Amino acid sequence: MRIIFLGCSGGRRITFTQKRASGGFLIESENTKVHVDPGPGAFIRLIQVGVDPASIDGIVLSHRHLDHSADVNTLIEARTMGGWNPGGVVVAPEDAINGDDPVIFRYHRRQLERIEVLKEGSCHVIGSVTVKGALKHTHHGVETYGLLVETSGVRVGYVTDAKYQKGMGEAYKGCNVLIINTTFKNPRNLDHLSLHDAVEILKEAEPELGVITHFGAEVVFWGLDRAAKWVQKQSGIPVLAAREFRFLDLSTLFMEKLKLKNPIGIQ
Ligand SMILES: [Zn+2]
Ligand SMILES: [Zn+2]
Repeated sequence: MRIIFLGCSGGRRITFTQKRASGGFLIESENTKVHVDPGPGAFIRLIQVGVDPASIDGIVLSHRHLDHSADVNTLIEARTMGGWNPGGVVVAPEDAINGDDPVIFRYHRRQLERIEVLKEGSCHVIGSVTVKGALKHTHHGVETYGLLVETSGVRVGYVTDAKYQKGMGEAYKGCNVLIINTTFKNPRNLDHLSLHDAVEILKEAEPELGVITHFGAEVVFWGLDRAAKWVQKQSGIPVLAAREFRFLDLSTLFMEKLKLKNPIGIQ
């Protein structure tokens, strides 16, 4: 089982300059592929790393913000070949599906095998991967849920965008790997996590490995490895910084560069 990071950007200044790529991450177990938070560029990044979008079994949105959902319809279209090959599962919060401003086009829904509503405590089986809604986060008034992903005896937690709440790490206890969206270097009252918050969450959750991602400008310009080292020192938990086009091997907890297979776009 491995996780391919297609992007690691967070915040407008980094996402909309593509100083770091966006596009979420892909979980690959033996026979199942699940794409989490396919933000801008996700579809192109999959092609670049040699993953056929038609081979994706499921798409999970932690919330409906554009940096997590921009390519969801493109991926459904690619997965189903415009409806000729129906199938695939989408898991997303209620307001992403049926809210005032849903992000999954109604036209695409009938192409899918099913759409399931993500909630705190919900459980979704996609092939050999089980995705659970771990915790409802406070995040700019949109329905937002952290995830627990289990496959082949490995448990990965995903602490998506959130305002830090004391004790939230408890919901992510028992994970081998915990991915945390850390947009800011220092805490701000803006419903996003900082490196300081990541330290608290890691101390509470005690995973074997922490992975920080979804970096805003402050963290990018400070340095991703420097940020990871700082969080590691403060928390006492091993920490890596995610980068686009790297994969984390979940049997060794080692992060490696991917060889790009298709030369379109940035190298
Ligand atoms: Zn968000
Ligand atoms: Zn975000």
